[in-house]
Amino acid sequence: MSKGNIGVTSQNIFPVIKKFLYSDHEIFLRELVSNAVDATQKLKTLSSVGEVKGELGDLKVRVTLDKKKKTLTVSDHGVGMTAEEVDRFINQIAFSGAEEFLEKYKDKTEAIIGHFGLGFYSSFMVSDKVEIYSLSYKDDAKAVHWSCKGDPEYEMEETIKAERGTDIVLHINSEFETYLEDATISALLSKYCKFLPVEIVFGKKKEWKDGKEVETDEDNVVNDTNPAWLRKPADLTDEDYSKFYHQLYPDQFEEPLFHIHLNVDYPFHLTGILYFPKIKNNMDVRRNKIQLYCNQVFVTSEIENIVPEYLTLLHGVIDSPDIPLNVSRSYLQSDMNVKKISSHITKKVADKLQEIFKNEREDFEKKWNDIKLFIQFGMLTDEKFYERASKFALMENIDHKYFTLDEYREKVKDSQTDKDGELICLYTQDPDATYSYIDRARQKGYDVLLMNGELDIHVISQAEQKNEHLRFVRVDSDVIENIIRKEDKEKTALTDREQDALRYAFESRLTQNDKTHYYVSVESVSADALPVFLTQNEFMRRMKDMSAHQQGMSFYGTMPDQYNLVLNTAHPLISTVLEEIKSGTHEAVAPLEEQLASLEAEEKRLRDEQKDKKNDELTDDEKNAVNDITKQTADKRAEIKKVYADFASSNDRIGQLIDVALLAAGKLTGEALSRFVNRTVKMM
Ligand code: ADP
Repeated sequence: MSKGNIGVTSQNIFPVIKKFLYSDHEIFLRELVSNAVDATQKLKTLSSVGEVKGELGDLKVRVTLDKKKKTLTVSDHGVGMTAEEVDRFINQIAFSGAEEFLEKYKDKTEAIIGHFGLGFYSSFMVSDKVEIYSLSYKDDAKAVHWSCKGDPEYEMEETIKAERGTDIVLHINSEFETYLEDATISALLSKYCKFLPVEIVFGKKKEWKDGKEVETDEDNVVNDTNPAWLRKPADLTDEDYSKFYHQLYPDQFEEPLFHIHLNVDYPFHLTGILYFPKIKNNMDVRRNKIQLYCNQVFVTSEIENIVPEYLTLLHGVIDSPDIPLNVSRSYLQSDMNVKKISSHITKKVADKLQEIFKNEREDFEKKWNDIKLFIQFGMLTDEKFYERASKFALMENIDHKYFTLDEYREKVKDSQTDKDGELICLYTQDPDATYSYIDRARQKGYDVLLMNGELDIHVISQAEQKNEHLRFVRVDSDVIENIIRKEDKEKTALTDREQDALRYAFESRLTQNDKTHYYVSVESVSADALPVFLTQNEFMRRMKDMSAHQQGMSFYGTMPDQYNLVLNTAHPLISTVLEEIKSGTHEAVAPLEEQLASLEAEEKRLRDEQKDKKNDELTDDEKNAVNDITKQTADKRAEIKKVYADFASSNDRIGQLIDVALLAAGKLTGEALSRFVNRTVKMM
């Protein structure tokens, strides 16, 4: 028996391991099983080149628990180690310049572990003592027994071991007895070892017999040694891909839409399969994450720093020996390989989408609504992806036809370019609620897009920024003649007083509250447009829409909805109403207007008189005079307004016109709707 101290650097290593893996003890099992797998793979390689002769025998790796002795053992029949090798690989943890490195990266323990493969030592996280029993494949090798209690001292002696290979025996610390439970180990093997290339056995297969679960004689192999991502795409059917998907995510019942098989040799190694799930909204996407493997060993499903955020919406696996394991997140972000991998995946994903778009357009259109959130998210957050995706990202019109932006521009450019050369694309977020506006637009031969997706508004804003002379306007944001102006606006022939009369009368019958503000405007639109209709400014509304999904825009969210009630003076009904208002209010209004006119004249005179003086040059009397007349004018106007309001309150036609406009915009509800119905019946 020999005793010794584990290589110089290890004095530093035990505390480092303990600190690092504090929250992640479970990876010890991954490390031990993958060492066993490596040893087995090495043996196979040696055998294939003739260095190991004869039958290799059973090569399965076994994980066993002994609850009485409180041990967990990982056994393999791989290459094994001679005493000299245990000394070299385990005792020395020999690497040149290790001390220096440890000193330099004192605070970055993850990087140390990842770089120097301290995998075996992670077993000390959960053990009071670790033993190695090993018999090397080499001729005349003697079996060796090594044991260590988690301090730099170890013992090593010759032993008797019948079979080639290595048993690693962990005497589990009482704090970690969960690692002596079948369920825990079973779950960990399924998490980390599901796709390792050598069969891993844990216990016996179970079956149901007479209503009870009983053990069979058959080994329970926990892994699939030849997972789909390592096979050639040509050898795989759609069914294989689907089967593999469910193997990855046993709780997922929905089928993915399509997959991308990744296979890169240069300048880095990467294989994998990515699946496009149906993405209806942001909520249900984070459940099945992409799983990252390193040579078939599961590493993590936290891949936010490895691929751009929108790609994390995808499902599947990525396997690359070139992604550094166990390293800190900031390290990952700056790693060149990681960057290359990320841009490669982006490119592949875009290529695949482009290919389906080109070759299976109909299918692409069918799936569009399930993948559009993903594509739009990518376009909004990744410039490179935008460039590619803008060639296949689709827009849907209300007839459920699909177009790329370029195709759509081509389609509508002749009819929907306005007098200033701006191409105006019309859209709706709710075809039912905006039916009358859509109808008017269609009568003019215009097309209307459907924009009811979570990110649609952001995407059209992006398209406007990227394309000159292109604007998207919601079809109910104004009367269609104003949205797509073909000629200069016609001025209304009404006098200011007449316009005021209309405005006051209609305003008085609109109910304002904190959430909704109405304004009235008087415009000569066109004789065949509705006499009264509601519009909503595109900019304000869009800002409000976007604020719903975006931080830092809550200012817009708190603003009331603002609507404009347009009185179309070109329509004969408005002329009729105006005449009614005029004759019904003339007697009361005429003298008030005369008084108002002279007050206004006086106000103007006073202001003109003072206009060249600075504020501090004015006497108090002068200031008061202006304030006084301003107040009188305002009061007089209020008096006039009241006359119009009194008239309007009993004029059914005004009420009816307003309600029709609200109704057409889907804004007439509750009591107001029932009043409208009653009034309509009465009028008939
Ligand atoms: P890594 O596996 O990253 O090299 P480890 O500390 O886990 O680091 O292992 C150190 C070395 O010990 C391995 O490289 C290997 O040579 C040897 N080793 C560990 N486990 C076994 C095993 N089960 N069979 C044979 N050799 C092993």
